[in-house]
Amino acid sequence: MSKVFVIDSVYQPLNPVHPGEARLLLKRDKASVYRMYPFTIILKQVIEQPDVKPLRVKLDPGSKTTGIAVVNDATGEVVFAAELSHRGQAIKMALDDRRAVRRSRRRRKTRYRKPRWSNRKNRKKGWLPPSLESRIANILTWIQRLSRYCPITAISMELVKFDLQQMEHPEIAGVEYQQGTLAGYEIREYLLEKWERQCAYCEAKDIPLQVEHIVPRAKGGTNRISNLALACEKCNTAKGTRDIKDFLRKKPEVLKRIQAQANAPLKDAAAVNATRWLRFV
Ligand SMILES: [Zn+2]
Repeated sequence: MSKVFVIDSVYQPLNPVHPGEARLLLKRDKASVYRMYPFTIILKQVIEQPDVKPLRVKLDPGSKTTGIAVVNDATGEVVFAAELSHRGQAIKMALDDRRAVRRSRRRRKTRYRKPRWSNRKNRKKGWLPPSLESRIANILTWIQRLSRYCPITAISMELVKFDLQQMEHPEIAGVEYQQGTLAGYEIREYLLEKWERQCAYCEAKDIPLQVEHIVPRAKGGTNRISNLALACEKCNTAKGTRDIKDFLRKKPEVLKRIQAQANAPLKDAAAVNATRWLRFV
């Protein structure tokens, strides 16, 4: 269970406390609620806490969300955990809308103005598309926010996901997962993201998933990533070496979904990777 953040009356972050202790402090009028999310209480006096326990923020960047956890390194205890949804697609759509409005206005209002094409500035080094910029801003905001309410001394980030430099256009280049440049671990992570951590056939979640060939090896299927899916043991066994069209003969809509999903490269992988190395120190 996550703990309650505590600050003293001069806004110094103290050790987080158990919710029961926080309830007691509130009841005895020694503290009041400072903020609802993350739940933080403010004490009514200044506390000199000699044994402030340092905490670490752990980040796990994913394509659509980033996991944030505050942990106590000494005990391994998770003090706070949350999942941050990114707004990449929404931002892109808003900018597309703005561009359309401006284009239309230029056509309506300044039709005889000479076109000015060479007025674009060069992009600075480290420039990122706004949709990715927002990911960084979101995460930094949360780190700053958390460090106001608890004694954070370190930040670490999950880095071993997939290395796009190595697996350049994995779906197009047809990297093979056993002997290619991709390690088995990266393939698994890539497939987990691509298939949204669920069985491709029955969409079961939170169960062990096996890497599975959509067109079976026995029927001439390749080891290309686009031919790989994730299946629960039950579906994998049921499918066996049958062709997917045969296996899903009675479920044409599932077949259609799987084929579409298999052929769409995980474009979000690029988003995860583009931001990973930038501006996190
Ligand atoms: Zn299944």
